[in-house]
Amino acid sequence: MSELKKFLHDLEDFELASFYHFRFNSFMKNSKEKILNELKSRNIKEYQIDKYLLKLNEKIELEIEEGKVCPKCYSDKFYNSTEIENITIQFETIRYSENYKTCLICLHSQDKIESQKEKNSIWNIFSVIKLLKKS
Ligand SMILES: [Zn+2]
Repeated sequence: MSELKKFLHDLEDFELASFYHFRFNSFMKNSKEKILNELKSRNIKEYQIDKYLLKLNEKIELEIEEGKVCPKCYSDKFYNSTEIENITIQFETIRYSENYKTCLICLHSQDKIESQKEKNSIWNIFSVIKLLKKS
C-alpha cells in the first residue's frame, strides 16, 4: 500500500472530507485518484463533502483552546516540522531553527502564525529604535 493510500485509509470520515476540501487541488493526478478512490470506498460523494466537515461546537472550541485539535479543520493529527528561519535586524540576518506543530490534514500551523506575529513585533521594535536614532 502506498503511503498516501495508507494515510487516507487511517483518516476519520471528517478528516478525509477536510483533506479533500482544503488540499485536493494541490495534488497531482495520481494522488487525486487515490483520494477519490478512498472517498468512493466510503461511499462519500464529492458534492456531499461539506456534509462531512465538522461544525464548530463547544466541545471543539474547548479542544482548540487546549491545543488538542487544529483550529481550522478540528483534526487532532499533527506533525512537528523544524524549519530554518531568517530574521533580519539592521542589515544582519540571524538564522535559527524553529519547531512548528502543523496539522497533517489542512497544513494549518498555529505555531507558525504565532511565531510570525512575534517576528513582526521584534522587527517593529527595531525599526522604531532605528527611526528614533535618526531623528
Ligand atoms: Zn487542520
